[in-house]
Amino acid sequence: MRIGVDLGGTKIEAVALDDRSNVLARRRIATPRGDYGATLAAIVDLVRGIEHDTGAGGTVGVGIPGTISPATGLVKNSNSTWMNGRALAEDLPKMLGRPVRFANDANCLALSEATDGAAAGVDVVFAAILGTGTGGGVVVNRRVVVGGNAIAGEWGHNPLPAPRGDELPGRACYCGRTGCIETFLSGPGLAHDYRAAGGAEIDAREIVRRAGSGEERALASLARYEDRLARALGTIINVIDPDVIVVGGGLSNIERLYASVPKMWAPYIFSDAVRTRLVRAAHGDSSGVRGAAWLWNESS
Ligand SMILES: [Zn+2]
Repeated sequence: MRIGVDLGGTKIEAVALDDRSNVLARRRIATPRGDYGATLAAIVDLVRGIEHDTGAGGTVGVGIPGTISPATGLVKNSNSTWMNGRALAEDLPKMLGRPVRFANDANCLALSEATDGAAAGVDVVFAAILGTGTGGGVVVNRRVVVGGNAIAGEWGHNPLPAPRGDELPGRACYCGRTGCIETFLSGPGLAHDYRAAGGAEIDAREIVRRAGSGEERALASLARYEDRLARALGTIINVIDPDVIVVGGGLSNIERLYASVPKMWAPYIFSDAVRTRLVRAAHGDSSGVRGAAWLWNESS
């Protein structure tokens, strides 16, 4: 049995998968925000709860926002900032009494979708989480590409490519840079764009709803979003040339992206034809937790 844990900013979810990727048990609780010790204890409780539910023991993989720094062994780059600088990779295995594998949450999404989801059977997969932030992950031949700094796939803090005049210099990002892709393509980024164009203070979900009912301002905001996404993904295609780009996160529910963005990205891609497919995550919100479980697959 493989147990996956997805440590999110608002909830922690755990599932147990059998060898045929059936879900044997599932549990979730609210994230104890701001409290590292309580977060550790919550993960341990979830794993023990799953093992109680199934009457079996399992391997444990954990998807986290951010990553474990190869330089220090501590969590870095997490927007759940109370995790940063913590020795999670040392503390959790000790508490659970077994080795634990960790990966960035977008890497887990990529692994899940490459294993038995929307990108099953292809060699090179890029996964993007378009939600509170803009995580990214790369899987090649069903294995997560971690990288020397453990940041492979982290496109969100690159500057937005080919910026238009009104996109410069761009807004300040929490990472210390300005004009990051994340400031445009996250949910809050879309909400900011709508507001900057004279719209009300509403969230991304409401903008998408209003666009669906034909509101001009919301439609214009979505059109700018698609143009920016096309530019940002174009540079990804030039570098790693994925067969499939999988999108997860709240904004992956914008149905029109999958048809419109591939029509817009050609000018940014160095190729006569572009065969890359842009698809929505097949496992939806469960992809992260499933991918965490798959960190213990046979080829790892
Ligand atoms: Zn940034």
